[in-house]
Amino acid sequence: MKCKICGKDSGKFVVCYKHRTTKYKAKCKIHGTTWFIGRQCQKCAELKKPIYEIKNKKDRFGNVINKGHYLYPFLNRLTHKTRAYQRKYIQRISHSSGIYGIFCGTTCLYVGQSVDISTRVQQHKDNFIKAQKQLQGIRIRKKRIALDKVKKKVEFKYYQLAHDYKLSELTFKKLMAVPKLNDDFEYNELLTYAEQAMIDSYKPKFNHIAARPTKK
Ligand SMILES: [Zn+2]
Ligand SMILES: [Zn+2]
Repeated sequence: MKCKICGKDSGKFVVCYKHRTTKYKAKCKIHGTTWFIGRQCQKCAELKKPIYEIKNKKDRFGNVINKGHYLYPFLNRLTHKTRAYQRKYIQRISHSSGIYGIFCGTTCLYVGQSVDISTRVQQHKDNFIKAQKQLQGIRIRKKRIALDKVKKKVEFKYYQLAHDYKLSELTFKKLMAVPKLNDDFEYNELLTYAEQAMIDSYKPKFNHIAARPTKK
């Protein structure tokens, strides 16, 4: 290969040894043209870091989660990060807030948070169908689809889902019910800790980023 920065031979690497820590612009399939170091999109790298983790009974700011801390009632659910422990809490989808999962059989494809899970699941289905229709249109013209070249109308994960699965194969489940807390900040924090715990437990295939609060 040729180094993306200086064009000199770089063996099997995208950049030569001298430029291994130098930023350069390239195209990320999720973020479009943005900064890379080595072969790593810097936006992806930042978003992959889990922030919402409880370590040694401490929240992400280092406060000990004792009785009276808003996370205390949820400590068991948030720290037993195995599917074997979590699966007994799976419920049907409803118009309540919490964490949901998209599955194909036993394979977990995606984990997300919502203040209204039923509505969010419907949005996922609508977006899946949009991606599917677009891919069907391309498939008629071309045999192979390069997903990163598709002009994206919905998020990248829907193209991955629609490329690999049929909507009828997917099941949607509530993984953790999260009650509405009076304090908005604490409520959003709790949702995001819960999302990270479910991501760590179910290891979904198509979550490209660690849990972050939903942008509103
Ligand atoms: Zn170079
Ligand atoms: Zn990226």
